Amino acid sequence: MSEITPEVLISEQKIQKKVADLAARISADYADCDDLLLVGILKGSFIFLSDLSRALTIPRSVDFMALSTYGESERTQTDGAVRMIMDLRRNITGKHVLVVEDIVDTGYTLSYLLRNLAARQPASLKTCVLVEKPERREVFTQIDYLGFSIPDVWVVGCGLDWAERFRTLPYIGVVHPEA
Ligand code: 5GP
Repeated sequence: MSEITPEVLISEQKIQKKVADLAARISADYADCDDLLLVGILKGSFIFLSDLSRALTIPRSVDFMALSTYGESERTQTDGAVRMIMDLRRNITGKHVLVVEDIVDTGYTLSYLLRNLAARQPASLKTCVLVEKPERREVFTQIDYLGFSIPDVWVVGCGLDWAERFRTLPYIGVVHPEA
């Protein structure tokens, strides 16, 4: 595979500053919470979740879920668009839950996840998303803490991949899949 260098869209420095700002807001909002459960969605959220969780100043714990998304052609059947392939280890009933996602594109994945988690009756349920693409949104989805809004381009880095490549880039970059 030929070497491609993704073009910088959001620099490492801007991401670090944004993570610190989000962590400060979340720490203030949950100041009275004795155990905030951060739910990371694999694989993409693992880097954002580890940076964010280390910057929080409140008691917190971490759990993970993995989802798989079907192709666009199957998305007409709204409920059939997303499938869970790994569930949480802990029961979240009565817990304060913050879902940590790398990216919201059409919104199907996060809206599926929120319906699924809400049915388990947590004490509260909010979301923290590193990047979203507003132009691509097809379904409403709640984003309580947002890093960046970006245009309709394919981004990599900070956990986001292109065919499993570039997840560990420290910045968010753009690749052009046709290149
Ligand atoms: P949704 O369309 O359900 O909001 O997002 C589905 C999934 O598509 C995301 O969780 C992510 O895995 C993937 N995705 C959408 N846009 C991008 C992108 O620009 N870069 C990468 N790496 N993944 C994306």
